[in-house]
Amino acid sequence: MHRDDISRREFIEGLMNVGLTMGLASTLWSVGARCNVPLLETKEAYGQNGRATPNVTAHEYTKEASWYKTVGEGTQCFLCPKGCYLAPGETCFCRTRINRAGKLYTTAWNNPSVIELTSIENGPLYHFRPGTRMLSLGTSGCNLRCLYCQNWQVSQTSPLKSRNLSFNIPQVIKATGNKSCKGIAFNYTEPVAFYDYMVDIAERARQEGLTVTVATAGYINPSPLKELCKKVDAFTVTLKGFDEDFYQKVCGSRLEVVLQCLEVIRKEGKWLEVVNLIVPSLNDDLTKIRKMAQWMKLHLGEDVPLHFSRFFPAYKLTGLPETPIVTLERAREAALENGIKYVYVTNLPGHVGNSTYCPNCGGTVIARKGFDTLAINLEGGRCPSCKKGISGVWV
Ligand code: SF4
Ligand code: SF4
Repeated sequence: MHRDDISRREFIEGLMNVGLTMGLASTLWSVGARCNVPLLETKEAYGQNGRATPNVTAHEYTKEASWYKTVGEGTQCFLCPKGCYLAPGETCFCRTRINRAGKLYTTAWNNPSVIELTSIENGPLYHFRPGTRMLSLGTSGCNLRCLYCQNWQVSQTSPLKSRNLSFNIPQVIKATGNKSCKGIAFNYTEPVAFYDYMVDIAERARQEGLTVTVATAGYINPSPLKELCKKVDAFTVTLKGFDEDFYQKVCGSRLEVVLQCLEVIRKEGKWLEVVNLIVPSLNDDLTKIRKMAQWMKLHLGEDVPLHFSRFFPAYKLTGLPETPIVTLERAREAALENGIKYVYVTNLPGHVGNSTYCPNCGGTVIARKGFDTLAINLEGGRCPSCKKGISGVWV
């Protein structure tokens, strides 16, 4: 395996080159949310220069938004199916878009609330350029309302109210440490909520030869998603359950939209991995998990990896226990039995389900512990024992 060796010191020096410092927490992974992301301690997340974004008139933190139309003095957003109509002065559901004098502006611009050095596996992305070092970032705001959100402190607030870092697009690119990081990952909260910032960074990153990945809950309309696909190499999408009722009551979202999103990403030819966070008593019904696997096989193909992720109590679901290991194992077995070739147990370091096995002979082709890739045993993308091709992007 090729793995870039960038030390924490080198990375901090890279940030200092752009006039910013921040604490790093490379292993603060936790799950419970769509994003399955680490939430840094406040002092680490915001760094010494952390400060609240100035008011909405501050030019460097706002930009006219994409994907909207004017309706009289109002604005109608069609980035996601919420379709927010805003009168002048109103802020939208995802808390990052505002109607100012009849125009829609994004306030999630140059102001990430979290930025961190990670490996690409944290997506989770297991079959795409393993070992790649990524600069991961996200702003405040989200267009969902998951009751178990791990990062609700930033997802359920506005960039106008959170404390943020100040990173314009050249600074983000520079913070990759003169390419010591090979890519940029958009995650933590919901990238749809900072779509314009994401797209502009992604465009610039691709020009610089950097890999671009997105972890999303997939609640986005098809046209903006197709535009996004042109600038992104790989996606992780959380399929939160296979039950419309669960989606609406627990996440404030709609299953059919997410299924459509998954199909669009596949049709656009992007690498895709799917995550399902299993919440005890809410979406752990094995019958529905089997249906999810069957749907995936039929509509996405048997090669799309599926991650079953462990829930830990958070936000409004602190009264539920963490997911029993046996539940995750049964879900994994059910998905394998229903034809998905690569099925993982995530957020449970050391479990046998962390690693990748050849679907033909069963040999271990990538050994992992949690999100750490320990060894890659592939020859030209094939199992060294039986020569079966292993799906993924390996260069
Ligand atoms: S509320 Fe938003 S950030 Fe939180 S888990 Fe749901 S989609 Fe992710
Ligand atoms: S992206 Fe935000 S503003 Fe646009 S429709 Fe969705 S929730 Fe509303």
